[in-house]
Amino acid sequence: MFQKARISLTLWYLSIIILISISFSLVLYKGFTNELNRIERIQRFRQESIEEFPHNRQFLYRIDPEVLEETRHRIRFILILVNVGIFVVAGGAGYLLAGKTLKPIGEMVEEQNRFISDASHELRTPLTSLKSTFEVHLRNRDRTLTEADTLAKESIGEVDKLQTLSESLLQLAQYQESSGHTHFESFMVSQILDDAIHKIRPLAKHKKISVTYQPSNARVYGNKYDLTDLFVILLDNAVKYSHLKGIIDIEVIKSDGHITLAIKDQGIGIEKADLPHIFDRFYRADRARSKSRNDGYGLGLSIAKKIVAIHHGTIQVQSTPHKGSIFYVCLPVNKVA
Ligand code: ADP
Repeated sequence: MFQKARISLTLWYLSIIILISISFSLVLYKGFTNELNRIERIQRFRQESIEEFPHNRQFLYRIDPEVLEETRHRIRFILILVNVGIFVVAGGAGYLLAGKTLKPIGEMVEEQNRFISDASHELRTPLTSLKSTFEVHLRNRDRTLTEADTLAKESIGEVDKLQTLSESLLQLAQYQESSGHTHFESFMVSQILDDAIHKIRPLAKHKKISVTYQPSNARVYGNKYDLTDLFVILLDNAVKYSHLKGIIDIEVIKSDGHITLAIKDQGIGIEKADLPHIFDRFYRADRARSKSRNDGYGLGLSIAKKIVAIHHGTIQVQSTPHKGSIFYVCLPVNKVA
């Protein structure tokens, strides 16, 4: 498809350049031949009026009409040659240019295809397992009402997870489009931290985890909703991957034109080999461990990375297995030009 689009774009470039070049050549040719005709006319006039105006004799020098005709041919030939040259050069340059123009579009289409195939793969697995559970249940002729109830309850849990997955996919697709919410403003960072902590509090309470942070008057420039989403993701992970009764601490560090928020947990940590991949879509470090204990789909950090990029910030992680992790988010305080 990419090749087809490239050729068609090249043909468009070529047609436009050739149209301009041919029009220009025609104008040039017309101009030259008009001039040659004028020379011929003047010569003829002087020749014919020599009797009447003898002083014209001093101007009488003659260019052979054959030379004039040959000059016309040569001009025509040179212009055709120039046009063929332009055709060849423009064809090559157009092909290169079309490749360059289409490259980001091609990459985007490829990325989208990968996204669709990853997403459908992630959705297919739980759906298939749900379907086979129902089939096994229906095949069992001695099934009891209690069993049916249990199955329904378990299925609702699975459906909830699927719902979470589809919401995360939607969120990721939304941020993939460059920006989630477009309204940026300057506000106190404590506003979004309070909101994010409020959202993860039930989960933290369930694991008896405390979340602490020194109230700060630091400001940040961005979108409140997107940045709240970002800290919900990071805090949710910190809770998910912390042990019972753990502590999560948020530090706000001000620096020139930026603020850095450090989210520290004392949880299971991340292996060195996993660190370069945790921001990749659908990546779950130690899949077996993550899957059995937690319900993540490996989308949170890729969404976080997109939000940070939209805000012209950076996100980094430092982690020691079995000791804990620190996620550093650096964001601008003022509008980035
Ligand atoms: P998930 O939904 O699986 O948590 P994420 O994209 O949020 O997906 O995270 C990717 C992986 O990074 C997780 O599967 C987990 O292994 C690791 N991870 C993220 N945050 C932490 C953390 N605070 N502590 C330990 N591991 C983490």
